[in-house]
Amino acid sequence: MSPHRLLLATRNKGKIEEFRRILEEIAAGQIELVGLDQFPNLHDVDETGSTFEENALLKAREMCAASGIPAIADDSGLCVDFLNGEPGIYSARWAGVHGDDAANNAKLLQELIHVPDGKRTAYFICVTALVMPDGRETTREGRFYGSIGHEPVGKNGFGYDPLFQPDGLSISSAQMSASEKDAISHRGKSLRAIAPFVLEML
Ligand code: IMP
Repeated sequence: MSPHRLLLATRNKGKIEEFRRILEEIAAGQIELVGLDQFPNLHDVDETGSTFEENALLKAREMCAASGIPAIADDSGLCVDFLNGEPGIYSARWAGVHGDDAANNAKLLQELIHVPDGKRTAYFICVTALVMPDGRETTREGRFYGSIGHEPVGKNGFGYDPLFQPDGLSISSAQMSASEKDAISHRGKSLRAIAPFVLEML
């Protein structure tokens, strides 16, 4: 049987690789993950929702409708307890320019400059949405708990990883290998939670 085609609605190369590794682990050979590069006419979906779930569903619905094949999309971000959950859904563009990781990290350090250890707790969250051409849809959430360090450490990963110290570890998530991070990350958890539905619905 030829593998089912599934559109992954993101242009972030890091995310695509992470999704591919996790899906390969769960459903080797059963799913052909198709990137947006194979649908050059699809334009980006505005993240106008007010929750991670709304944004993930918005993206998956629009990409499924435009491509005609099942689509999976995620929305993720960092929620810092001391900042009442900020940057939250604004994580990618918190400092102003979408995807400016250095500026976002500098802003985070500045916001927490006088905040002592113990009050710097935070978590990454990821909601993954699967939407089928016949209208069926489902979402799953994953969280990755830790705290915010005092300076960037490590070169792996992306986004806020150099400042994020996972609970129970003495390194930042930018010092973890890709497979170590997949095993406990918000994205890994939400994707592993939705994978059985992907196989069931296809
Ligand atoms: P999204 O592409 O709208 O889901 O935005 C996610 C943003 O949240 C990224 O640009 C990062 O700033 C942050 N983020 C989400 N997941 C991670 C992660 O695993 N490591 C570091 N930053 C992350």
